[in-house]
Amino acid sequence: MKNSLLQKYNVAGPRYTSYPTVPYWNEADFNLSVWVETLKKAFKESNDSEGISLYIHLPFCESLCTFCGCNKRITKNHDVEDPYITALLKEFSLYCSILDEKPKIKEIHLGGGTPTFFAADKLDKLINGIFEKAEKADHYEFSFEGHPNNTTREHLQKFYDLGFRRVSFGVQDYSPKVQKAINRIQPFHNVAKVTLWAKEIGYTSIGHDIIFGLPFQELEDVIDTIEKTKSLQPDRLAFYSYAHVPWIKGNGQRGFKDEDIPKDETKRMLYEVGKELLSKNGYLEIGMDHFALKTDSLYESFSQKKLHRNFMGYSSSKTQLMIGLGVSSISDSWYSFAQNVKTIEEYYNLLKQDELPVFRGHKLTEEDLKIRKHILNLMCHFETSWEDKKEYFEEIPDVLIQLQEMKNDGLITIEENGIKVTEAGKPFVRNICMAFDLLLKRKAPETVLFSMTI
Ligand code: SF4
Repeated sequence: MKNSLLQKYNVAGPRYTSYPTVPYWNEADFNLSVWVETLKKAFKESNDSEGISLYIHLPFCESLCTFCGCNKRITKNHDVEDPYITALLKEFSLYCSILDEKPKIKEIHLGGGTPTFFAADKLDKLINGIFEKAEKADHYEFSFEGHPNNTTREHLQKFYDLGFRRVSFGVQDYSPKVQKAINRIQPFHNVAKVTLWAKEIGYTSIGHDIIFGLPFQELEDVIDTIEKTKSLQPDRLAFYSYAHVPWIKGNGQRGFKDEDIPKDETKRMLYEVGKELLSKNGYLEIGMDHFALKTDSLYESFSQKKLHRNFMGYSSSKTQLMIGLGVSSISDSWYSFAQNVKTIEEYYNLLKQDELPVFRGHKLTEEDLKIRKHILNLMCHFETSWEDKKEYFEEIPDVLIQLQEMKNDGLITIEENGIKVTEAGKPFVRNICMAFDLLLKRKAPETVLFSMTI
């Protein structure tokens, strides 16, 4: 990658797990009735044909990793498990009381926090509780995030018996000096043990998450981490950039100094060398920051242009409605987004009053829906098209000027009615999406809200 391009395009920008991005939500036009109305509409349109997705946030962790940007509560007290499971089931039953028929669940993803903080029998209670009020859709895909340090064989077996076939493990980096800096001591043999158990039990998609750009991380650490990863042959990999956003996350990320973090060009080299090694080992690039073996469902859906992106990241099939359960979870009905309250105390209080614990959201306008489609196309398929340029480009000619400039820089090709991202343009896909983001163009954030794009 040319340094001039790196300097030009390495700016703060969204990762586009949604459009509009959360800082651009118009909360004035949103309330609980708007959410319930669009939820019912989406449910009616999609439950029978494709089913719905559930994201379930399990926020507890036993210790704090200092690179983490998730909503979590650090505790060693496991008495918190029962009340939280009860609250999740209460929230799900409130949703079921609004919906006209039994939800057909196509996807479940358990994220956190640390889902495996919970004992296997509590998680069993949660999933069985959900299916007292719901049924499984055809070709369902259930997945969970496992912490290599506390995932037990019992967790893996229990989830497998419940129909889960996909698990992802957070690896980050195997170097002891990096692990010390991010306060996540996790030796290779822990990751190897849980990966091999998952294989033995019969999981068909095992993922590892690796991060580049972590404090003190050097090229040899990335190479060593990928070599070790290769020896375990996970089916898919997330290989993504450490998002240093301490101005948002407060002190949680301050376990190291800014100067300990690899700078732009070094960081990019970590990515490029890592990416080359992954491709040499048979991992194909899928969307942004993701890689998969040809046999994995993510590759299959990417090659068939069925890949979808939502708050959970990439998923191999699209569902119009995703209900987020748990503290801070975001739900998406396609027509609107709704986010749950961010503290466990508020979450419990609202549920006690039989209220959905939603505190903010956004109803998508016609313009939002059009732009969302282009951004999803670019993030999932590296191309997008339109029937009529007038759909909004004329109103803001700057979009076309910017696309032309990106074409001149070799990042995209401009077709008759659309654009395609070139190989050289793939690392800049967030920038290309930003060219379509009219909300960002109309009003640049007053403070820095996003991580750097490269
Ligand atoms: S990285 Fe995972 S385990 Fe570590 S604090 Fe964040 S959510 Fe918890």
